[in-house]
Amino acid sequence: MASKQRRIALMGFRSVGKSSLTIQFVENQFVDSYDPTIENTFHKTFKINGQEYALQLVDTAGQDEYSILPQSYFINIDGYILVYSVNSKKSFEVIQFVYDKLLDMKGNIGTIPVILVGNKSDLNMDREVSTEAGKRVAEKWKIPFLEASAKDNHSSQRVFEQIVTTIERASGNVPEK
Ligand code: GDP
Ligand code: MG
Repeated sequence: MASKQRRIALMGFRSVGKSSLTIQFVENQFVDSYDPTIENTFHKTFKINGQEYALQLVDTAGQDEYSILPQSYFINIDGYILVYSVNSKKSFEVIQFVYDKLLDMKGNIGTIPVILVGNKSDLNMDREVSTEAGKRVAEKWKIPFLEASAKDNHSSQRVFEQIVTTIERASGNVPEK
């Protein structure tokens, strides 16, 4: 079967772990210092439910509440991973701002595959955002939510499986579990 191309953007405040999650998924390693200013596109071929996907992962340099999102974040993107970190209330505020910007640009967001990820779940001692708070926002937006840690390969994999599944569901290709 031919592999399906999917282009996915990771968005969120700086330092939340967008690059770390991506690199853990693509290279199976946790990198401690990745240039935070770089915007890079990573590639990974990955199989889920017997279907091969050629993923392009757009690891954005990050946004804040003043960011104007470039057109390139809206064109040819199949799905969005919105990332905050559980040890930063500020990043949780920023992700709500980014969501609103997406909504402005895309109109009816109900049709855009988006997931919400609370990263750095290993830093439970420094938590500023409860699991419940993340869940509540995702329920309000009617999108999938998960917490993850870029230090943990399995949880990073789950993030990308979730967005691919969400993209497929939006296009009617995968039955609800
Ligand atoms: P980005 O700016 O969103 O791309 O964030 P980075 O991936 O560059 O990560 C920022 C900092 O947080 C780096 O020092 C990472 O090593 C660290 N980091 C990223 N993800 C995690 C995580 O899940 N747990 C912990 N403890 N640190 C993380
Ligand atoms: Mg980065």
